[in-house]
Amino acid sequence: CGVFGIYAPEMEIARLTYYALYALQHRGQESAGIAVSDGRNIDGHKGMGLVSEVFSVHQLEKLNGKMAIGHVRYSTTGSSLVANAQPLVVHYQQGMMALAHNGNLTNAYELREELGKDGVVFQTTVDTEVIVKLIARYRRINLEDALIKTMLDLRGAYALVIIAENKLIGVRDPYGLRPLCIGQVGGHYCLASESCALDTIGAELVRDVEPGEIITIDEEGLHSRQGLPSQNRAGCSFEYIYFARPDSTIDGINVTESRRQMGIELAREFPVDADIVIPVPDSGMSAALGYSEESGIPFQQGLLKNRYVGRTFIQPTQEMREVAVRLKLNANTRVLKGKRVIMIDDSIVRGTTSSKLVDMVRRAGAKEVHLLISSPPVLYPCYYGIDTAEREKLIAAQMDIEGIREFTGADSLHYLSSEGLIRALNGSSVCLACFDGDYPASVPSTKGGKLNL
Ligand code: 5GP
Ligand code: SF4
Ligand code: MG
Repeated sequence: CGVFGIYAPEMEIARLTYYALYALQHRGQESAGIAVSDGRNIDGHKGMGLVSEVFSVHQLEKLNGKMAIGHVRYSTTGSSLVANAQPLVVHYQQGMMALAHNGNLTNAYELREELGKDGVVFQTTVDTEVIVKLIARYRRINLEDALIKTMLDLRGAYALVIIAENKLIGVRDPYGLRPLCIGQVGGHYCLASESCALDTIGAELVRDVEPGEIITIDEEGLHSRQGLPSQNRAGCSFEYIYFARPDSTIDGINVTESRRQMGIELAREFPVDADIVIPVPDSGMSAALGYSEESGIPFQQGLLKNRYVGRTFIQPTQEMREVAVRLKLNANTRVLKGKRVIMIDDSIVRGTTSSKLVDMVRRAGAKEVHLLISSPPVLYPCYYGIDTAEREKLIAAQMDIEGIREFTGADSLHYLSSEGLIRALNGSSVCLACFDGDYPASVPSTKGGKLNL
């Protein structure tokens, strides 16, 4: 998911939030929502679909106030329903609160059971509602302290934006699993999942929210408080590999640059005798450029992308994903005919994309197809908000590398090593759990399972 928040009394906050969500659209395409506050009342609009489908000019004009938060959703827990769209807006003793969440709680099931025993009722099936209910329950103490108490209860990944009690608040989990950054525009502050949203609205990147930090923005400006001590920093490496937009900078590392470095590392680890390097657009683009740069093998655009198709992976069913691959990408015979091709993609999850594309590139006349992947094999599920599927669907958890090569039909197959990946990320401390099973935060109990609440 993607989140955004802004506190800017003199600005058109709904419109700015709309543009920011537009820039974060790649983080979720199922639903979108905006909530605005005048300091007391909260108003909002949300719906299923893309940001551009959910909001009309008319609706944006009706949303006025001095602060706003917004959300784009891609479902990892809870079904794809409008009731599960965010921000969640609730009434509690101190007034109204709106909250938007990126990430996945790993103990939502247990927390829900516990709250349920106390008579708390839930209106949605998303883990996020648990957070709202916990904050409301602890609010006998002041809001920031209630937030700290809530953070103590939460396990897993969360980057939150909240409006309540005339404040805009941003929270990042103690591992910093999901990104969240602070921006400044016209003397006002905003918060966003990725810096590309700040660029879009003309805001400057101030800094990233630190793991475990609570940022409060109000009339007096910005305040910081360490909500929980930061654990081992473990930002999601998959943000760099695939998920984030290439023009974003997360925790000091530019996404395009990190992907280019992954390509360079790949070229050092696996030199292949070939005529051209082609990316799987868009996600393999920078890695293919890096590979070409390091190896001296020319970069060519052998696969063309239909600009009007969204992210195929995000389609909920397997059949939809398969058709979507062909709808999304086509091979350019002129470039590929008679060539020994290195095809670079960022990752293989289920194997759908790679096997279709190797076949497509061969049919277009390629003599050899070498598949190089700019991340290690995805062996374990993510419980922290990236939908890399259950273990049974992960091809690398089912077959060895030779089996996957055979399945995809490639002449050779190479994955970047985790050492190479870390080098490409300047040695930073990141989460690699989907590659090595070493989960930084707790994982769900078998009872909670993958939390299809
Ligand atoms: P596969 O077809 O193997 O299931 O998925 C691999 C393709 O989906 C790659 O081209 C990659 O760019 C994209 N992808 C990989 N992992 C993810 C993910 O966790 N989320 C989304 N949305 N897309 C992914
Ligand atoms: Fe990111 Fe993988 Fe960790 Fe999930 S398990 S947070 S996808 S690195
Ligand atoms: Mg891709």
